Amino acid sequence: MKWNQQKIKIKNKQKILHTVINQAPISRADLATQLGLTKGTVSTLVGELIEEKICLESGPGESSGGRRPVILLFNEKAGYSVGIDLGVNYILGILTDLKGQIIQEQKEEMDTRNEDECVEAIINMIHSLISSAPQSPYGIVGIGIGIPGILNKEETIILAPNLGWENSNIKDRIQEAFQVPVLLENEANAGAYGEKKYGAGKNYTNVVYVSAGVGIGGGIIFDNELYRGSRGFSGEIGHMTIELNGKPCRCGNNGCWELYASEKALLNQAQAILGANEKVNLDYLVKIAEENEQIKHVFTTLGKYLGIGILNIINTFNPEEVIIGNQLASAKKWLIGPINDYIETHNIKFDEGHIKITFAELGFHSAARGVSAQTIDHFLKSREQIALV
Ligand SMILES: [Zn+2]
Repeated sequence: MKWNQQKIKIKNKQKILHTVINQAPISRADLATQLGLTKGTVSTLVGELIEEKICLESGPGESSGGRRPVILLFNEKAGYSVGIDLGVNYILGILTDLKGQIIQEQKEEMDTRNEDECVEAIINMIHSLISSAPQSPYGIVGIGIGIPGILNKEETIILAPNLGWENSNIKDRIQEAFQVPVLLENEANAGAYGEKKYGAGKNYTNVVYVSAGVGIGGGIIFDNELYRGSRGFSGEIGHMTIELNGKPCRCGNNGCWELYASEKALLNQAQAILGANEKVNLDYLVKIAEENEQIKHVFTTLGKYLGIGILNIINTFNPEEVIIGNQLASAKKWLIGPINDYIETHNIKFDEGHIKITFAELGFHSAARGVSAQTIDHFLKSREQIALV
C-alpha cells in the first residue's frame, strides 16, 4: 500500500474508533452512514480493531426490520492508565480504564517539596496502583503526571515555585522505573483536559479552566485542543496584575491575581480574623461561614477578586465557558454569587449573557483524570502512527 493510502486508512480507522468510543453501541452500517465511508472499508477497519482487541462485538442491536445488526463496543478493559496529581501537600494517584473511569485511587498527604522523597513516593504509589490493574491485552498504556509548575516542551520542570523545584527532570526517572510512556503536564492544563474530556467542558469548544489552589493557574482549550503557547508556558494567569500598588509577589511583580484570589489568600485572611491558635482549612471555613459574618465576607471579597481576573480572561479569550477548579471549587456555595455579580456588572455590554461560569465537575480529580486521559489518547493515536513508520 502506498504511503498516502496508508495515511488515509489510518485516518479513517481513527475516525471509526473515535465514533465507537463516543457513540457505542453502534453498528457497522451506522458507522458507514455517519462517516461517509463504504461498508467494505468500515468492515475491514472494524475487523482490525476487533483483532487488536480495541473494539468488541456484542449481541444484536436495534433493527428496522430484517437481520439484526451486530453492535460494536469500545473495549475499555484493553488496557489501563495511571494519572498522578502532584500537589504542594499531597500526591493523588488513580488507575483508570481506557474510558477514564477510576478503578483504583490513592492519596497521600505529604510535604512534596523534597524532590527525591517526592519522586520516591510517586514511584511507590504507581507500583501500588499498577499492581491492582486487572489482566489486559495492553497492560499499563502510560503514566501521566500533573505538576504545579512551568514545564517546557521537553517536559522538564523549569520552575515549580510552590514546590521549590527548579530545572528538574523527573520524567526520565519515572520512565526508567516503569518502561512505559510517561508524560508530564502542567496541573492547570491537566485539569482543563480532564474537564473538557469528562466534565463541565464536555460540550464546549473554547474553554478556560482556572485552577484555584495554593496559587492560580490556567488551562486554555482552544478549538477543542489544549493551547500551550509558543514555548509551552501559556496560562500563567495567576500573575496577571490586578492591583497596581498591590502586595509584592514571589514572581518579582506586585499585585498579582493569586495574592488576592487563591486558597492561600483566603486562608491567610481567615487566620488573621480567627487568630493564630485556630486550625484553619478550607472545609472548616466553608462550614463556619454559615454563622461567621466576617468569614463570609472574606469569601465574598475573594469571589469579587476571582471575578476581576475571570473578566480579564473573558475579555482576552472570549471563551464559551470558564471553569473554576482545584481546591476553591469546594467553596462554590460562597463564591459563585460574588463572581457572577462582578461579571454581570462589569462585563462588556455587547457580550452580556453569552458566557457560562461554572465549577469543576470532576472535583479533586480534574487534573489526575486529565493526565490519565492524555496518556490514553496518546496510546490510541500512537498505536497507528507506529504502523506508518
Ligand atoms: Zn506574581
